[in-house]
Amino acid sequence: MPDASARSVAIERRSADALFVVHPAPAHGLGVFATRDIPAGIRVAEYTGDRISHAEAARRYDDEDMEDVHTLLYTVDRRTVIDGATGDGVARYVNHSCEPNCDAFLEDGRIFLETIRPVTTGTELTYDYRLRRPQPMPRDWRRRYACCCGMPRCRGTMLIRPPRLRAPRRLMPSAQSARPAR
Ligand SMILES: [Zn+2]
Repeated sequence: MPDASARSVAIERRSADALFVVHPAPAHGLGVFATRDIPAGIRVAEYTGDRISHAEAARRYDDEDMEDVHTLLYTVDRRTVIDGATGDGVARYVNHSCEPNCDAFLEDGRIFLETIRPVTTGTELTYDYRLRRPQPMPRDWRRRYACCCGMPRCRGTMLIRPPRLRAPRRLMPSAQSARPAR
C-alpha cells in the first residue's frame, strides 16, 4: 500500500492513549504493537467495516489478481461479511500468526479481538486467521495465503481445513466458524 507510512502516522496519533500502535511490521505490511503490557483476556479492538452480504463481497472483490482479499473480509455468519478495507479500526492491521497472542470472538454479531495470553510492551498483536479452505481450493491459494509468521509451530499457511465438529459456540472463537472462504 503506497500510503502506508502516512496512514501509520495518522493512526499512531489517533491511538496515542490506546494499548497499541500501528506501524510497519517485519512480516507483512503494517502491524499492531502493544504500547504497554497487556494481560490476557483484554478486548483490544473491534473488527469494523461495512457489513455486507457474501454476494456483495464477491462483487467488490471479483478481481482474481487481487492479493490478500480474504485477509480483509471477515465472515461473521452465512449472511454477513465485514469489509475491513472500509473500516477505520485497527483490527484490520492485526496480522496472522500460527501461535498468536489474540483471538477473535463473536458477540452479538460483532467481532472483537482479545488477548489470550499476556502481551509485553512492543510485542506485535496477532491472531490466527483460520481462513477456511474452499473445496476445491483455487490453485494459487496455497501461495497467496502462505504464512511467514516465523513461529516454531508455523503451519506455513493461513488456511485451515473446515472443522468437522462444531465446538459449543460459547467456547469457540468466532474466527473458527467465521472465516470461511467463499
Ligand atoms: Zn505461521
